[in-house]
Amino acid sequence: MTRSNCTLTTLTQAYRFAIDPTPVQANHLRSHIGGSRFAYNALLELVVANWDENRAKKASGLNVTKDDYLSTSHFGLLYLWAEKRDELAPWWSENGVSTYNDAAQRLSKAFQNFHRQRAKFPSFKCRGQVGSVRFKKDAVRLSDSHHVRISRIGEVKTYESTRKLFRHLERGTGRIVAATVTQRNGAWSISFTVEVQRQLPPTRIPEMIVGVDLGLTTLYTCATPEGVPILALDNPRHLVGAQRSLAHAQRIASRRSGPRKGVAPSNRWKKANGRVQKIHAHVANSRKNLIHETTTRLAKNYDVIVIEDLNVVGMMKNPFLAKHISDASWGEFASQLEYKTRWYGSTLVKVDRFYPSSKTCNQCGTVKAKLSLDQRVFECGACGLAIDRDLNAAINLARHGLAATDSVTGRGGEVRPKHQRLDATAHPDETSTKTSTLVGV
Ligand SMILES: [Zn+2]
Repeated sequence: MTRSNCTLTTLTQAYRFAIDPTPVQANHLRSHIGGSRFAYNALLELVVANWDENRAKKASGLNVTKDDYLSTSHFGLLYLWAEKRDELAPWWSENGVSTYNDAAQRLSKAFQNFHRQRAKFPSFKCRGQVGSVRFKKDAVRLSDSHHVRISRIGEVKTYESTRKLFRHLERGTGRIVAATVTQRNGAWSISFTVEVQRQLPPTRIPEMIVGVDLGLTTLYTCATPEGVPILALDNPRHLVGAQRSLAHAQRIASRRSGPRKGVAPSNRWKKANGRVQKIHAHVANSRKNLIHETTTRLAKNYDVIVIEDLNVVGMMKNPFLAKHISDASWGEFASQLEYKTRWYGSTLVKVDRFYPSSKTCNQCGTVKAKLSLDQRVFECGACGLAIDRDLNAAINLARHGLAATDSVTGRGGEVRPKHQRLDATAHPDETSTKTSTLVGV
């Protein structure tokens, strides 16, 4: 492997900014969101009616061909909308074309997921606390580091500086693909989907290896293959901590008149619900910050990071664990590590979820048959080692990763890694993104 090669890769990245629309702009945006929802529901209704009709035809012995079915493709639905919009929504021209394109795209995606059995049949959207509309790339642009121009809406102020994205666009290393404006409990934000060209450093020589055990009591326990503990971060349990104030806020909201069928929520309920949402948002933000900090630190400072390939979806089905696991955001942690290791030239090794990292003694290798979740100290019956449960797991993971990288780089050889190695920079055509190789930097 030539280590002087630097690869230039196109990655899709999201940039999200809080925006501050004027009351007039907010009204326009709400109209776009409402228009998109209307078109989505109207199109869904047409398709459902069409299916019912065909079913009735079949039942009465008539011949039904493929042509009798409405197309649920993106363009098929757009075409259907163009045909019906004057009749269904005479006001349609008040909103930009992105609005209806967005609806058609979302619905076709929903049908696709249904046909591939990844989701249930698309459901009608109702007006709620959250609404969003996606704008096409030509409908949005950054006018400067504090303003976004959205067609039909005008110049919208951003709360934060968009400098990072602005520079990418100016230099030509970034291209806006689309932008989604979201309203969540009265707060507005815009999220740009951007294709960014990033120079990826070559994969580093695996010298510093760290094993990371993700837990509930101790959120992240990190250790080297030599058994040196590096970091033990207690689970701040943002959600658990905020539970009391959340319960209090929810109790108040529950006593007030919320939205029911045919009844609009009271102003007092809206106010109380706003408080509940605020606590939720605070929890989510502090969690996000912590994960970002930790993953950046690991990806920057270590060459190889070894984690367990956890079956998060499966574990979420366990009602006792679900709340805590989603609080700790394990899945988010892993996916951040996946892209950050690419950015910094380190390697992420995901160890098979059936590898007994917690049950194996890191000193003598004996594997325990059983280790219950509440047993915080690992005690080995064979060699008498007593060690913190999570630390033991982290050491085992680090060693497992060491063996794997040795075989990959040809230093070891006899160990065959059973797990997948996420090496983004080794082979351009192995990565999912478009890659071009630059000559030695
Ligand atoms: Zn032992």
